[in-house]
Amino acid sequence: MALIVIVDDRSTNRTVFSKLATSIEPDIKVKSFGDPQEALLWIAKNPPDLVVTDYKMPKMDGAIFIRNFRQMQGMQEVPVVVITVHEDRTFRLRALEAGATDFLTSPVDHHEFITRARNLLKLHKHQLALAERASNLERALEISEGNDELYVRDSRQRLAQVIDTLPMMISAAGLEGDILFVNANQAAFSGVDSRSLIGKHVHELFGEESGARSVALDRMVFEIGKPLPSFEEDLTDRNGTSRVFFTTKSPLLDVCNRVVGVVTSSLDITSRKLTEAHLHHLAHHDALTDLPNRVLFRERMRRLITLARRGDQVFALHLIDLDGFKTVNDLLGHSAGDRFIKAVAERLRKAMRDTDTLARLGGDEFAILQGNISGSEDVAAFAGRILEVITSTEGFSEAAITTTASIGIALHPEDGADSEDMLKNADLAMYRAKAENGNRFCFFKADMNTRARLSALLDTDLKEAIANEEFVLHYQPQVSLTTGRIIGAEALLRWDRPGQGLLSPGQFLPRAEENGLIVPINEWVLRAACKQARAWHKQGLHPLRIGVNMSPVQFRNRTVPLLVAKVLSETGMDPRSLDLELTESIVMDDQEAVAADLKQLSNLGVGISIDDFGTGYSSLSYVKRFPVDRLKIDQSFVRNITSNANDLAIVRAIITLAHSLKMEVVAEGVETPEQMVKLRDEGCDEVQGFFFGKPMSADDFQAVLTEEPDLARRSA
Ligand code: C2E
Ligand code: MG
Ligand code: MG
Repeated sequence: MALIVIVDDRSTNRTVFSKLATSIEPDIKVKSFGDPQEALLWIAKNPPDLVVTDYKMPKMDGAIFIRNFRQMQGMQEVPVVVITVHEDRTFRLRALEAGATDFLTSPVDHHEFITRARNLLKLHKHQLALAERASNLERALEISEGNDELYVRDSRQRLAQVIDTLPMMISAAGLEGDILFVNANQAAFSGVDSRSLIGKHVHELFGEESGARSVALDRMVFEIGKPLPSFEEDLTDRNGTSRVFFTTKSPLLDVCNRVVGVVTSSLDITSRKLTEAHLHHLAHHDALTDLPNRVLFRERMRRLITLARRGDQVFALHLIDLDGFKTVNDLLGHSAGDRFIKAVAERLRKAMRDTDTLARLGGDEFAILQGNISGSEDVAAFAGRILEVITSTEGFSEAAITTTASIGIALHPEDGADSEDMLKNADLAMYRAKAENGNRFCFFKADMNTRARLSALLDTDLKEAIANEEFVLHYQPQVSLTTGRIIGAEALLRWDRPGQGLLSPGQFLPRAEENGLIVPINEWVLRAACKQARAWHKQGLHPLRIGVNMSPVQFRNRTVPLLVAKVLSETGMDPRSLDLELTESIVMDDQEAVAADLKQLSNLGVGISIDDFGTGYSSLSYVKRFPVDRLKIDQSFVRNITSNANDLAIVRAIITLAHSLKMEVVAEGVETPEQMVKLRDEGCDEVQGFFFGKPMSADDFQAVLTEEPDLARRSA
C-alpha cells in the first residue's frame, strides 16, 4: 500500500488533493497536514512514498520544508511535488536546490495531478526495488570477500548490470580526465563501446567542448572534495540531437576517504523542460490570438530599455485601440467578435518585422514595440501602415465590417524612462487620437518637427564633441568583499555639452548608436581609460583593474580585438588590468563571430565581464561557451535583495552557478550596508555602488584611492 503525504495550509486544497490522490490507485493511503512542522514529525515515524507540498505557507515555505525532509533518514529518494501559484522561476530554483522532484502549477489540473503522481509513485517503487537489489549484491560481496574470488567477480558484474539498468547516464573519471567507468546508457547516448573507453580521455566520450568543461568541473570536485550543486546542461547525442540533462558531479572516495575520481550522473529532463516551456508559453501569451500578453510585453520592453541605456537601440511603443469595436461585438455577437480580433491580429502580425514585438494587451487593445528606428519618420510611416492594415478586410469575410484604430506613440528614451512611463504616455497619446475622431496616430506631446530638429542638432554637436574634447570619464570604485579594498573602477562616460552641463550616457548614447558615432566615441573611451589606468599604475598606486563598457555596434564590425591590441600597445597598459564589459545581447547577437572575437581578446590577456546580468537571457549555458571571467549582477536584483526573497534567490543561484564555472561575481548598485553584508554572506566576490562611491572625476577617484583604500570597513 502506497502512502501519500499532502502539505498545504489551505484546507480546501487539502480536501481536493486528498481526493485526487485517493483516486490514483485502489490501494492508497493519504495523510494531509496544514502545518509543515507537524508533517515532518509524523513523517519521521511513517515514511511516505510521495509528498505533495504547497510552496507558499505561512510557517515554513516549501523549500525549507523539503530541505528538512531530505535530511531525514531514508527520505533522499522519495519524490516531492511542489505546487507553485504561477510559473515562478525563482521559487522553482529554490525548490530544486532544496531537492524537489517535480512541479505542478496552481490552479492544479486534476488530470495532470493524477498522471504525474502515478508516474512518480511508479518510479519510486522501481527505485526501491533497484536499491534493494544493489544492497543485496553488496551484502553478498561482503560475505564472500576474500574467500570466493569467482563469486565476487560475478557479483561485481551484476552490480555493474544494475547500474546499467538505471535510467540515467553515469560515468566516472580520474584527475587527468581518464575514463574509469561508463554505464550502458551513457555509452549508447555517446555512441561508443563502454569497455574500450576505459583509460581513454573523456573527450572521446563527451566530445572536445563538453569534455573540456567536464574536466574543469571535475577538478573542482577534486579540490573541494564535495559534490557540486546540480546544474542543467544541453548535451548532443551521437545523431546530433540535443537534449537537456540535470547533471550531478560527486566525488568517488577510496577507503581512506581520498578523492580518486568523480562520478557524473545525468538525468534526461527534456520532456519536463518541454512541459515547462509549454506552461511558460501559456502564462505569457494571449489564449485567443497566441500573441504575447501584457506580462511578456512588459518584459520585452524592459529588455529594450536596458539595451537602450548603453546606446544599443532607440525604440517606439505603439498603443493601438480599435475604434468602435463594441459595435462589432453588439452586432455580431461575442464569438464573431473573437474571430474578428483574431483576423486583425493576423493582419498585424503579417505587417511586422520578426524583430519587433506585437502583443494583445486585452480586449481590443494591441501594442507594438518597434526597434531599430532611425528617426520619427520611420515611426510615423509604420503607424500609417498599421492604420491601413487594420482597415483592410483580409481574413474576415463573414460580414462586411471594418474598423479603424487610434494609435498613441511614445518613443524611448525621450517619452519615458521605464515601461510604466512609456505605457502611460502612449496611452495619453492614444486618447488624443481618439479625441480627434480616431483613425489616426498621435505622438506623445512633442510635435514631430521639433523632434527632428533636436536630433539633427544633437548629431552635429556629437560629431564635434570628440574633437572639442568635451567627453570626460568618471570612475566608480569596485571593492573586493574579501579584502575590503578598492580593486578596480568602472569607466563611465559623461558629455560636458556646452551650455547644458554634464550629460549622462542615457541622454546621448542612444542617438550615437543610431548615427554610428558610438564607434569613434567608444574608441575614445577605451583609449582614455587605458591612458588613465597606466598613469595610475606608474604613480605606484596598486594595480587597478579598469572596466570599459562595450557597445554591440562595435562587435558587429568585427574589429574589437584589433582595436584593443592597438590601444594596449599604444598606452603600455597591462592587458590583465583591462576588463571589457559586454551585455548579454552582444553575446547572443552572432554567437560564432563573437565567440571568435572573445577568444582573441582573452588570448590577449584582457578580462571579460557580462554586464547587467539577469536582465536579458540570463542563461549560464551560453555564458559557459565563452571565455567569461566575471558576471555583473544587475542593480535591479540588488536593490531589493534584503526584502525580496525572489531577488535573493536569483542572486544566490547566479553566485553558486558562476562559482561552479570558475567565474567571479560583481554586484552592481549597492547602496546600503545591509545590501553589502547580505552579498558578502552569499559569497559575492566584488561590489560596486553608491554606498562605496558615485562615479567621480579621475582626480577625486585618485584622492579616495590614496586616502581611504579600505572602503568596506566603513560598515564594519
Ligand atoms: P552600467 O554599465 O550598468 O553602469 C552602471 C550604471 O549604474 C551607471 O550609470 C552608474 O552611475 C549607475 N550606478 C552605479 N551605482 C549605483 C547605485 O548604487 N545606485 C544607482 N541607482 N545607480 C548606480 P551611468 O553612468 O548613467 O551609465 C549608464 C549606462 O550607460 C551604463 O550602465 C552603460 O551601460 C552605459 N555606458 C556608460 N559609459 C559607457 C561607454 O563608455 N560606452 C558605452 N557603450 N556605454 C556606456
Ligand atoms: Mg557597465
Ligand atoms: Mg550594469
